[in-house]
Amino acid sequence: MGFDNLLSNSKIKKRLLSYLKSERIPHSLIFSGPSSANTYSFAISFAKAINCLDEKEDFCDKCKHCIEINKEIFPDVKTVYPDGAYYSKKQIKELVSDNAIKPMKGEKKVYIITDSHLMNEATSNSLLKVIEEPAQFNVFILLTSNINGLLPTITSRCQNIKFTPPLKIEIERQLIANGQEQEKARVLSYLINVNMETILSSNHNELLEKRSNIFLVFEKLIRKKDIADVLLDLTHRSRSREKFIRYFIELVNLMIILLRDLMVLKIDTDSETIINIDYKKNLKDLSKLITINKTLFLIKQMELLFRDISRNLNSKVLILEFIKNFTSQEERNV
Ligand SMILES: [Zn+2]
Repeated sequence: MGFDNLLSNSKIKKRLLSYLKSERIPHSLIFSGPSSANTYSFAISFAKAINCLDEKEDFCDKCKHCIEINKEIFPDVKTVYPDGAYYSKKQIKELVSDNAIKPMKGEKKVYIITDSHLMNEATSNSLLKVIEEPAQFNVFILLTSNINGLLPTITSRCQNIKFTPPLKIEIERQLIANGQEQEKARVLSYLINVNMETILSSNHNELLEKRSNIFLVFEKLIRKKDIADVLLDLTHRSRSREKFIRYFIELVNLMIILLRDLMVLKIDTDSETIINIDYKKNLKDLSKLITINKTLFLIKQMELLFRDISRNLNSKVLILEFIKNFTSQEERNV
């Protein structure tokens, strides 16, 4: 294990390694890039490299510190998430008061602040205080998919590192190099990106199982059969907002991939270029039940749903909107 196992962004790896080598680690960094760019994996890897007991300029993933960081029980590496739609005053206040406390076990304390753009002006200004005067033993890594959502006073005081998502083909090649079959590697390259997981740590069978479950949902929706079951399942899942959103993003993503496959099959029934090549027969059958216009309409609607998710719409509204797109006769707005 180590930085070599992280996909893409090799220039950034070099930059982070050079910080470790020179022992001049910036106190505040911004990792910006789309959610699929894996900024979290880089941040947690950097936190491990800073605190690893065995490796100086990398991380081993085997020592006590690395293991505890992976289990999220290492006291000096903390990942914070917004408490609700935005970070609360209390959360940032805690960070500020924590700033003065020395690390308990590690070399440095590392705070990974996810979705750091989700702060209002008052909380941003509190955070600014620690970024302006960080204790020597602290490293703040602000993750964001929307750099413009951060105050310029914050961005100007941080090392801003811009990430790009890995290409599907890079993921596919990596999977094949790791011994995965070519056919599965293609499917997985899409699923892995969706789940933002790294190649080695992700459980491929689990991902394929998730896809087969979501495919069943897709079949019901296209056949307009047992829609009530789909509705019930989603409603059930929506009891936990956080888990629901994670599932819903996967669901909508996969719907787009499956709809694109249907689209390809509608144009060329023998196409070998579909992603879910192992589901070709089922997809071919389904493609007969839907028009090209409706397929295009659905792809567009699914993409719009992503915008709705990021707008933090109520789960119930998201579910109804999702189902309605499949059940309605509507094909316009293409
Ligand atoms: Zn280690």
